[in-house]
Amino acid sequence: MTFKTTHSYLQLPESCFQVCQPTPVADAQWIAFNQPLAASLALPETYWLTDEGLDLFSGNKLPEWAQPVSQAYAGHQFGHFVPQLGDGRALLLAEFSDEDGQRFDVQLKGSGPTPYSRGGDGRSPLGPVLREYLLSEYMARIGVPTTRALAAVATGESVQRETAEPGAILTRVASSHLRVGSFQFLLAKGDLDGLERLADYTVQRHYPQLQQIDDDGQRYLALLDAIIEKQAQLVTHWMSIGFIHGVMNTDNTSLSGETIDYGPCAFIDEYRADQVFSFIDKRGRYAYNQQPAILHWNMARLAECLLPLIDNHKETALQLATDLINAIPQRISAAWLERMGTKLGLNAVRAEDKSLIERLLQSFEQGQVDFTLGFYQLADELNKQTTPAALYAGCTDFSAWRDDWQQRLSHSGQPLSEAESTMRTCNVRRIPRNHQIQAVIEAAYTDGDLRPFNALHAALQDPFATAPEFDQFDQPPADPQRVTNTFCGT
Ligand code: AMP
Ligand code: MG
Repeated sequence: MTFKTTHSYLQLPESCFQVCQPTPVADAQWIAFNQPLAASLALPETYWLTDEGLDLFSGNKLPEWAQPVSQAYAGHQFGHFVPQLGDGRALLLAEFSDEDGQRFDVQLKGSGPTPYSRGGDGRSPLGPVLREYLLSEYMARIGVPTTRALAAVATGESVQRETAEPGAILTRVASSHLRVGSFQFLLAKGDLDGLERLADYTVQRHYPQLQQIDDDGQRYLALLDAIIEKQAQLVTHWMSIGFIHGVMNTDNTSLSGETIDYGPCAFIDEYRADQVFSFIDKRGRYAYNQQPAILHWNMARLAECLLPLIDNHKETALQLATDLINAIPQRISAAWLERMGTKLGLNAVRAEDKSLIERLLQSFEQGQVDFTLGFYQLADELNKQTTPAALYAGCTDFSAWRDDWQQRLSHSGQPLSEAESTMRTCNVRRIPRNHQIQAVIEAAYTDGDLRPFNALHAALQDPFATAPEFDQFDQPPADPQRVTNTFCGT
């Protein structure tokens, strides 16, 4: 079949990518195909029934329209700069457009070694593929900007991590795969012309409204500002749903503001501000409550790359960028307040609400309350004067907090029914819980059983739906089910 694809990334300097072919796999088998996403990209929903589809998504045989390249980027990994990373196991095939003309990268992940593999095998185990499929599609479902999962295919080969694991390939769809590390790569090379071309490309692709700004320096400064805004919105959205990315390296920070590179990420069960699940994150650099500070740091790294474009005078450029960077904590704080206030039913937050939200979180932490259910059940407490629900029993000051919250709402003059409907539309009942993902992976590993994967995927389609068959997915883990680390050799 032929499709209308583009390859705009190839306009960038040649140092930004290398042409590379996928390595064929022994025995390709479907795991999943995302029909609605396929349809939105004008791919036939029945593509998964065709040999061509399986050949494509396993990398066994690419159609003519695919022009596979792996992309170059650098990045700060856990704070240490690596001047050349790049797609060590991914290939950008082409760009597809949706019905609105918005362009999307289609990329194979786990398709074999590339010039950027740095000794790695270029492959991906099945577990992380299942995790990324479930999590990224869930994020899309609840409106968090994210890369998407178009297809997952088993390779019939094993990949060696701590033990031998079954291999798989994920086909990822992203607004683009541009990262902070894409800029860092060109800066490290001292390629100022390349930096400018990349900045122009980023504007064109993600922030076209900035093209109206005639002054070059002002336009690049506005680009920095726009990326900061997207990222502030993204990270506060994560905070509001209890999501921990786990590896917020600059190479995993997208310029479009999408969640990208689902590795050892996880949702919090019982609330703990400094929760870390990733086994590789020994010092808690990317702990739940560190995410805003890390975003600030990552945006400072991006600003460094844009300085030469913002103004020829170093001092002027530095001053302009520093003003933006210094304002980030305040910006994140405002975005956080807005999101968290909505979770409490407030339709217009005020600065004083910060302490109300913080007190609730402290109360959850002290009472070991499940983050998701704690917020989900809060709507039932809106109008209640009697003993709070059992869920909050361990929180000694919950009743006092509830009084203050109820007062805050009544003073706002906002009808309770409105607060309730706000809360019921933003506080989800169901998240992809770590122990369920673990169970999905174990079933797939032990006897190739994909039914738990399909069941969890179905339950996550509507995070608010109540049905007896979904009950098991709404429950926090019992102690023996608790997953303490999520790193499984991605
Ligand atoms: P990640 O932690 O997945 O964001 O990956 C960090 C860097 O390591 C990226 O440049 C990846 O392409 C590369 N990488 C991760 N796993 C592999 C692998 N199995 N083979 C080759 N490169 C890899
Ligand atoms: Mg990465």
